[in-house]
Amino acid sequence: MFPRPFDYFSPSTLSEALELIKSGDAETRILAGGQSLLPAMKARNLSPKKLVDLGGIRELNFISKDEHGLKIGATTTTATIENDLEIACLVPILQETAGEIADPLVRNLGTVGGNLCHADPVNDFPPAMLAVNATFTLASAQKTRSIVADEFFVDRFKTAAKSNEILTQIQIPLRDAKVGNAYRKIRKGSGGFTIAGVAAQIEVDDENVISGCRIALSGVGSKALRALRSEAALLGKTPEAAVLGEAAWLAVEASEPNSDITASAEYRRKVLAVLVKDAVEVAYKRAVMGNYE
Ligand SMILES: Cc1cc2nc3c(=O)[nH]c(=O)nc-3n(C[C@H](O)[C@H](O)[C@H](O)COP(=O)(O)OP(=O)(O)OC[C@H]3O[C@@H](n4cnc5c(N)ncnc54)[C@H](O)[C@@H]3O)c2cc1C
Repeated sequence: MFPRPFDYFSPSTLSEALELIKSGDAETRILAGGQSLLPAMKARNLSPKKLVDLGGIRELNFISKDEHGLKIGATTTTATIENDLEIACLVPILQETAGEIADPLVRNLGTVGGNLCHADPVNDFPPAMLAVNATFTLASAQKTRSIVADEFFVDRFKTAAKSNEILTQIQIPLRDAKVGNAYRKIRKGSGGFTIAGVAAQIEVDDENVISGCRIALSGVGSKALRALRSEAALLGKTPEAAVLGEAAWLAVEASEPNSDITASAEYRRKVLAVLVKDAVEVAYKRAVMGNYE
């Protein structure tokens, strides 16, 4: 099917784009890579009257690093993140997550900002951003504000971004500590959507005991979920089998999976337990030995 008719705008600056969405009316949508929005428009699940394309705004497409951490512009494509050497070395979970998304065609067009704002509970970037404790910058014509990933994802396809706001950048703290992270997922077939995914970030002290931990889940709830009790169970420990088993069991308890055409709730719980152990173990090894050692 073709989408219903709409007016198309292609601003070349952020301020122009913010002006175009200033009224916050529900008939106006932002277009990034179009990999989620356009299929929804073709299926006529969504029929916005006005599309504001971010693709021509250079200031939203960047990867940089400063004393606050790593910064990624919202329109940076999934493929760029997958292939960026600095990201691979500093925050390997992001490279891994990007590489797990769909297929090269989707990754070449889809953007990190679009993936986060779409907030599909099976999207892969939301749990990764929760695990690395990312902060998002939201701009409107009136003001710019920051929001932590923990407060951004509200529900299925719903975020804390208002309809007159654009996600402009994602900031990931880089600390001078022994930190490792990893993303593991099971998908439906090749290039298929996530059945369940686990993002883990582990920090260890000088004795290689876990001193910090963030675990987030995709595909097993109405939004990306933190597994807070699993995190607490790992603190002060090293990842022996019994410790990993408890963390996995607590994550399954925290999950709220549905049965759908992709997988049953029971299957999702089963693979989730395996993924938690795997992601935590790999993140721990990276924290102890350094990324890719
Ligand atoms: C075949 C296929 C398989 C896929 N498999 C996966 C997968 O395995 N894992 C996965 O995570 N994703 C998957 N996706 C989704 C893909 O990653 C999308 O690219 C992503 O969800 C949306 O990014 P986009 O840039 O294409 O955004 P768009 O489709 O352009 O926009 C998505 C939504 O976000 C809003 N938006 C976009 N950018 C901004 C911004 N900067 N500020 C505010 N609002 C914004 C739009 O208005 C829209 O509501 C798949 C898609 C396809 C077509």
